[in-house]
Amino acid sequence: LAARVRAHIRLRQRQDSVIEELQELSELTLTDPLTGAYNRRALESLLGARMSEFSRYQIPVSCVMFDIDHFKDVNDTHGHATGDLVLLEIANLTLTQIRQEDALIRYGGEEFLVILFHTTRIGAANFAERLRHLTEEHIFVEENQKLRITLSAGTSTHPEDGGATDVNSMIALADQRLYEAKRGGRNLVVSEG
Ligand code: GH3
Ligand code: MG
Ligand code: MG
Repeated sequence: LAARVRAHIRLRQRQDSVIEELQELSELTLTDPLTGAYNRRALESLLGARMSEFSRYQIPVSCVMFDIDHFKDVNDTHGHATGDLVLLEIANLTLTQIRQEDALIRYGGEEFLVILFHTTRIGAANFAERLRHLTEEHIFVEENQKLRITLSAGTSTHPEDGGATDVNSMIALADQRLYEAKRGGRNLVVSEG
């Protein structure tokens, strides 16, 4: 009997460690190693279903797409390592401003997407404006160099924006408004039009 119990315990321990390894693996494949934000793969697998549920029940949900202004110049002037540090700090700054249920996704190199659940257009605009302001005021420090960074953002909201019922069209609309913010001179938030 003792031998059987030991065999069961061993089996159980092995299963637990397999589960742990799988969890670690999925965390690795769903997050960006530099910032710890979700990656695009996570966006599709984790949020796709959630978004369609929100759209079915007409519950407000917003996307905020933001991109660091003139980030190429940051790299060119201060080096790639400083650029990386700025990305990490911006991600951390953003995480202090969102709720537990929300999600931060590193969408591209220096482009991030925030999904704000239960958030209307005005809520998304206020969030983006607060983040824009915090970033503008934040002093990024690396090896005694102080630098100021700005970002531009576009937001989109379901159901206020009408047609956008799936995650891809919401992202496209937020991206279009981000482009308008860049055209409007940068360090700007665009939430409608
Ligand atoms: P804009 O205001 O129009 O957004 O100008 P920009 O210079 O930010 O845009 P552009 O797309 O020309 O340059 C983006 C730069 O971001 C170029 C690329 O080298 C840099 N970049 C992308 N990913 C990373 C990264 O992981 N680390 C660092 N340090 N730089 C990155
Ligand atoms: Mg940029
Ligand atoms: Mg960009």
